[in-house]
Formats: sequence, C-alpha cells, structure tokens
Amino acid sequence: MTDADMAPLDLAYHQATEYLAGLARRPVGATANAEQLLKMFGGPLPSGPQPATETIGLLGRAVAEGGIPAASGPRYFGYVTGGTLPVAIAADWLVAAWDQTASLYNLSPAIAVAEHVAGQWVLELLGLPEGASVGFPTGCTMAHLTSLAAARHQLLARAGWDVERDGLPGAPRVHIVAGAQHHMTIDLAARYLGFGSGGIHNVPVDGRGRMRPDALAGTLATLDGPVIVCAQVGDVNSGAVDPVGEICDIARRHDAWVHVDGAFGLWAAASPRLRPLVTGIEKADSWALDAHKWLNVPYDCGIVVVAHPEAHRAAMLNERAGYLPAGTPGERDAIEWVPDFSRRARSLPVWAALRTLGRAGVAELVERCCDLTARFAERLAGVPGVELLNEVVLNQVMVRFGDDDTATREVVARVQESGVCWFGGTVWQGRAAMRVSVVNWRTTEEDVDRSVDVIRNAVLAVLPAG
Ligand SMILES: *Cc1c(COP(=O)(O)O)cnc(C)c1O
Repeated sequence: MTDADMAPLDLAYHQATEYLAGLARRPVGATANAEQLLKMFGGPLPSGPQPATETIGLLGRAVAEGGIPAASGPRYFGYVTGGTLPVAIAADWLVAAWDQTASLYNLSPAIAVAEHVAGQWVLELLGLPEGASVGFPTGCTMAHLTSLAAARHQLLARAGWDVERDGLPGAPRVHIVAGAQHHMTIDLAARYLGFGSGGIHNVPVDGRGRMRPDALAGTLATLDGPVIVCAQVGDVNSGAVDPVGEICDIARRHDAWVHVDGAFGLWAAASPRLRPLVTGIEKADSWALDAHKWLNVPYDCGIVVVAHPEAHRAAMLNERAGYLPAGTPGERDAIEWVPDFSRRARSLPVWAALRTLGRAGVAELVERCCDLTARFAERLAGVPGVELLNEVVLNQVMVRFGDDDTATREVVARVQESGVCWFGGTVWQGRAAMRVSVVNWRTTEEDVDRSVDVIRNAVLAVLPAG
C-alpha cells in the first residue's frame, strides 16, 4: 500500500469519526434536495482516473450539505431504524477491509465460526429452541422469504410434493393466514415465493391490532390442506404483540406452520421484564427478526431462525455444484441457510454487539428504549390537543393532534422542519397519526424531553388556542 492508497482510508476514518462525534448536534432531518445532490454526484462518467481522496471528500460534502438525516442519532424517531453501537461500526469496518466471502467455511473459517457463534447466542438470548438453524440474510423481508420457503418445503413434502424440483404448478394449495395488521413484507415474501399476496387470509384483530385467537380458530376451521400462520411480535406502528403462544396452540391442532414476524419486537424476549409479552414464542416453527433495528448494528442484517433445520436447508441449498466442497460436519456453510450465494460477513457486527453487550446489556438496551417510550407517552399525554392512540407495550407510541388529519400532518411537518428531532406520519385505523419509535442506544431522557418541547410548540402553533 502506498501513501496514496492509504489516503482515502485515513480521510474516510476522519470523516466517519467526526460525523459520529457530532451526531447529536447536527440537524436531524436531511435538508439537501434531489437536484442539489444530483449536481454533486452527477455529471458525466469521468473519462479517466480521479484522485480517490477527492471522491471520498465528495461524500463528506454531501453529508455536510444535509444530504443524509441523522438517522442513527439520538433524536431520530422515524420508522424503526435503530442506531449503531460503536463496536458494531468498528466490526463492520473490518468486514469491508477483510473482504471475505462469507458463504462457505472453506472460503473464510473465522467468519464461518463467528457467524455460528452469533447464531447460537441469538437462540440462547431469545430463548428459541436449541438445535434450531440460523441464517443472516439482508433483513427481515429476506428472513420471511427464507422462513416461508422452509415452511413451503415441509408442508408440501408432507403432501408428497417436491417443490424445490417441481415448483408450484400442480402443487396442493398452501394457505397463508396472517393478522389483518400484518407487515407488508409478509405480502412481499408471499409474492416472491409464488404464493401471491392476494390469497392471504386476514384474521380479524382486536382494538390494539393483535390477531384474535378465536378468529384464527374460525379461519383455520374453513381451510383444507397445508397452512402457514404468520404471527407478529411488534406492530410497526403500535408495537402490539400477537398472543403467539395461543396462536401456536391453535395452529398445532391443524398441523399448521407458525412463522413469527418479530422484526424489532422479538428482542423483547431478551428482557426478563418484557419476556411475558412473548410467552410461548418458542413453540413457533420459524422466526424472522432484524439485527439492524434494535440490536443497533449497521445495515443490512436480518436473522432467520427455523426450528426444522432439514426443511430450512432443503429450501435454500440442497445440491452443490462440483466446484463447491461437500459440507463437513462442524464446519458451517452459510449458503445453506440464506438465499444469498456470495455475501458479506454481515453477522460479524452481530457477534461483536452480542460479545460486547452480553445478555444483560441487550436487556438493558431494550428496556431503556421502552422506558423512554413510556416517558414520551406520559409527557405527550400532558400536552393539550394530543391524543394517544395506542397502549404502549414496547418502543412505539402513536399520537394524533386536535383530532384532525390536517392538523396532525401539519404538526408532523413542523416537527420535521425543526431540525431538532424527526418523527414520521402514518395512518392508524383510518386516522392520521404521528409515530414515535425509540430504538437507539444513544437516546436519553433529555432527548425525549427536548423533543416533547418541540412537539408542544408545533401543536401550539397549529391548533387554535383554547
Ligand atoms: C422493518 C420491519 C420488517 C421488514 O424488515 P426489513 O429488515 O426492512 O426487511 C418486517 N416486519 C416488521 C414488523 C418491521 O418492523
């Protein structure tokens, strides 16, 4: 490596650490528009080599000019994005520097073993069945896809059908059943797998958005043939948690496969205090969650867990081309558990986060976010004109202003423009609302209180006095 080779690395390191050090002070929303950014990044493809430091410098400028939101900062409460633990960023830097193909043991022994250990720790931490198989796809959507593919394999094999070889034409119909408030990525996985999303049976939910077990029993009674039931732990708006244990008991009577969408909410299982929320979770057949949300590792990293490793492997990789070494016991090949072939070592930051936080550290992170969420709810309830729309069970609050859609959207817009904090809007049961999602290790009580002040001022400006 020459000095010129090292220079862009040094520059990136300084830009990155400077960014992280100033994260709590920078404007939270992005301020540059598409036209400005296009000008910065666009123009014709350079006809020849340019200095690498100039290239990295350009990225620094895009950030300086407001091209990215401080989404991993302490007062970003939009979507469910999560922050990043310093140790996870550091591990991710090594992932890029080492540039390992994390597909086969033989391609990278240390990466394969670290991923295996991370998977075992996830099972232990969340209280999922020993012996379940674990994969690290790009996100929860791909974890759904992997899970439903494993379910499809098992249910159709039981009916004498080899879906991996023969596909779906002519196969027995697999019914997918989900709560009426399931996340849209369940539909995506159903589409990718050839089930289609149009046929998903939506089970009525209660007032909090949780699947009703009695209604599930009713739906299952009308269905013939293989069934996959998708339960949800953590509604993206309200944080509501389906009664998964009861759902599993009912589904079991119909030989149905139960898949759990626990993108962020499944981390509640790591907290002794919150664990009762997910009682019975271990009875399901597959689980999908994200590390890039509540575990606070960088994008992109999901986790898929399947209680039936043979079905999981059969759905992902059951034949190997001649140039791939045969699997060796004790040497885990990641390609058996995810849809990717070549892939980055995205599980390394997960290993690093779990190794550093330990069991108590993960529980503390999850509980702290929930406590801060409760603080939001309590403080916001004291602001005139604010209506709380959900029972706070996890890390999500929804509020509405002046019982009016226009006023609510106006308050959200004003808060977003404040630069102090960022919240997204949504529609909940037909009414406009503002979402609050607390999933960042950096967020403090002061951040919550400052943000509530901004919301209070916006409400005062938008709602007629009195
Ligand atoms: C974020 C989310 C997903 C999708 O996860 P990705 O990692 O974005 O693919 C699915 N379900 C729920 C409940 C989510 O919050």
